[in-house]
Amino acid sequence: MTGGGAKIDSGDLDLLAQRLSQSVRGRVERSLPLARHTTYKLGGAAELYLEPADETDLVRAAEVVEESGVPRDRLPVLTLGRGSNIVISDDGWPGLVIRLGAGFSSIEGVAGDRGVIAAGASTTLPLLANWAARRSLTGLEWGVGVPGSVGGAVRMNAGAHGRDMAAALVEASVFDFNAGVVAKRPQRDLGLAYRTSNLIETEIVTRARLRLAPDREPSIRARMEAYRKHRAETQPGALQNAGSTFKNPEGDSAGRLVEAAGLKGFTVGAARVSELHANFFMAGEGATAQDVHDLVHEVQARVLAATGIELQPEVRFAGRFDQAFAGERR
Ligand SMILES: Cc1cc2nc3c(=O)[nH]c(=O)nc-3n(C[C@H](O)[C@H](O)[C@H](O)COP(=O)(O)OP(=O)(O)OC[C@H]3O[C@@H](n4cnc5c(N)ncnc54)[C@H](O)[C@@H]3O)c2cc1C
Repeated sequence: MTGGGAKIDSGDLDLLAQRLSQSVRGRVERSLPLARHTTYKLGGAAELYLEPADETDLVRAAEVVEESGVPRDRLPVLTLGRGSNIVISDDGWPGLVIRLGAGFSSIEGVAGDRGVIAAGASTTLPLLANWAARRSLTGLEWGVGVPGSVGGAVRMNAGAHGRDMAAALVEASVFDFNAGVVAKRPQRDLGLAYRTSNLIETEIVTRARLRLAPDREPSIRARMEAYRKHRAETQPGALQNAGSTFKNPEGDSAGRLVEAAGLKGFTVGAARVSELHANFFMAGEGATAQDVHDLVHEVQARVLAATGIELQPEVRFAGRFDQAFAGERR
């Protein structure tokens, strides 16, 4: 997610912003700061920002971009959900950021099929888990402490406590921003595996259809409460971090490896490895996105040197980052 390549001219962006503002009902902004839209609360601005009002609006926006003749490689697209698994560069995003807003937040049962529900991509997982619990439907309790959106959760195949999106997902509605086409993609075509999918940056999940199972509400609530309690005791909460930094390697835990390498509390700039959970990396007062980037890479290098295991980041980095860090900045 570098958004690299030749930069779009600022005058072209102004013109495109103007055309979008005239054609779509949703919000269009130039140079919108993105930090407030991420749990890390870090990073720069989106050159161009779009919050489509609904799916028709999103389709219209893609048409406007197509008609503008701006080369696609000069307008990198980034879809932002709740920003709970992403670090945006201090330089911001050099193209178009699309964030689905309230028009994509409906949740409804599917007529004639008691366990099947349809959720808009901007709905949050805790909200959806509670909605399902109220209707005595099980299968999403794990999402109660995961502060992401349904769209982001499909993209990442989010999961916890032995369950994930793949287990409940029937199909996702995916809008291909470059092709301008919406398609219903069945779960098996999304390449969902441990914290990954085959969705690319310009493919936007707008809706998900999920199959849940009936259960007693008190049992569902008890599981949710146990998960919540476990998180509160073992994790630092959703402030200034993005959950697990690295994926767990086969048969081991990333947090255990980071801790075993003696890196709990290790800092780069104002970013530090959490004392409570070594796979959570916190942004302290004055931290930059580059600090978080450098901390992730320094920890990765040290764990590799200590154990021979190369941890793979689960957190995504968007935009330009300096790769030259050599470990001297404390
Ligand atoms: C405190 C905390 C705890 C967490 N615990 C867990 C956990 O237990 N399990 C877990 O799996 N994750 C966990 N996470 C990480 C995160 O919440 C999940 O990965 C979540 O699914 C990300 O959703 P999001 O909407 O925030 O996505 P973002 O962070 O906004 O984006 C993540 C990726 O998804 C893409 N994306 C976002 N929306 C869409 C869309 N509509 N269509 C297509 N692509 C999209 C983005 O382009 C990006 O590549 C945790 C995070 C925090 C802060």
